[in-house]
Amino acid sequence: MAATSLNAPNAPLLQKTHQTHVFLKPISTIPCQTSAKRFCISCSATTQDRLSVQSQSQDRVFNFAAGPATLPENVLLKAQSELYNWHGSGMSVMEMSHRGKDFRSIIEKAEADLRSLLNIPENYAVLFLQGGATTQFAAVPLNLCAPGDSVDYLVTGSWGDKAFKEAKKYCNPKVIWSGKSENYVRVPSFDGLELNPNAKYLHICANETIYGVEFKDYPVPCNPNGVLVADMSSNFCSKPVDVTKFGLIYAGAQKNVGPSGVCIVIVRKDLLGNAQEITPVMLDYKIHADNNSLYNTPPCYGIYMCGLVFEDLLKQGGLEEVEKKNHKKAGILYNAIDESKGFYRCPVEKSVRSMMNVPFTLEKSELEAEFLKEAEKEKMVQLKGHRSVGGMRASIYNAMPLAGVEKLVAFMKDFQAKHA
Ligand code: PMP
Repeated sequence: MAATSLNAPNAPLLQKTHQTHVFLKPISTIPCQTSAKRFCISCSATTQDRLSVQSQSQDRVFNFAAGPATLPENVLLKAQSELYNWHGSGMSVMEMSHRGKDFRSIIEKAEADLRSLLNIPENYAVLFLQGGATTQFAAVPLNLCAPGDSVDYLVTGSWGDKAFKEAKKYCNPKVIWSGKSENYVRVPSFDGLELNPNAKYLHICANETIYGVEFKDYPVPCNPNGVLVADMSSNFCSKPVDVTKFGLIYAGAQKNVGPSGVCIVIVRKDLLGNAQEITPVMLDYKIHADNNSLYNTPPCYGIYMCGLVFEDLLKQGGLEEVEKKNHKKAGILYNAIDESKGFYRCPVEKSVRSMMNVPFTLEKSELEAEFLKEAEKEKMVQLKGHRSVGGMRASIYNAMPLAGVEKLVAFMKDFQAKHA
């Protein structure tokens, strides 16, 4: 393979290793979102080539998918630069032993960074698991209660409903409130909730990804020994959260913090150790906590990617800063919907509208297919609402740049002007 000068115009992006030259992508196809930015990637190859990549917007779309979802571009580029030879180890993170010192440093840093992002106290364990949030629907009751125990579920969307249905197999759950008859458009007032004084836990879904309903505040279980449990899959790390209000938080990574395949559980340590006898070893949180998430082979590459995202969120100034950006993005999108004189409509009560998932319908529903097609031509993809609700949904997670939301809003206004 002929070596090409890195300084030559249009030279392929070259990573030099101790033995060979590896061609990555040509510089002209390195994906970026803003044409003016320059990225500096520090390669981990032994020759320590520094590659300056001219940013190009052409290759990447604005991806409004609900998850797996868009990831921060600088994180993707860093992962690309480290893919072949991580920090001079001579191998990719995908090839490392999960018990070796290199991977240990990766998982320990990921945990430490997540702890500082969310200010997670020492009396909480942080677990990097597999099986997605859906597995936690079973693992939560299996770990937190005995078969006959009562637990409460506050259901504000279909994920909470699924969690409740799964819990029925392992304990005695009760839906204390459901928004189903109203098509999940609100969170109830906490004052009127009929909480069970004996419930071992109260389960909520902090952000219902499909319906776009987000808790802005949290209910307190009425059993003094009960705990609040939250599925935070779709708003994890989108804003600061007081972890101490919860006994357990779980979140699939594939929306805000990484690729699918990793599920993060944050659990108060005193709740561990009481799993039901039938609990499969892979669902027993104590076993994972005692083994620092290395009881068996964890999703190593996914954990590495989550670590890069956590590092990036810290560099952005932490979750207070991230929340400000998310607030701004959601604000301009909801304003555009509300100011469209009914052409677009978001059914969710204003006080609990999600900062992450923005569902909206078109007054003229016959235009939906055209809306999606035209948006796709403009490189804005995955705007179709969930199959169970229809309409549109723009998921605007942490990694969706403001420019993506501004482009969508401009497109929506233009589409309305053409079709009003
Ligand atoms: N809970 C919520 C809030 C979700 O959005 C999802 C996935 N979209 C799930 C649970 C299920 O997650 P998984 O597919 O990772 O099991």
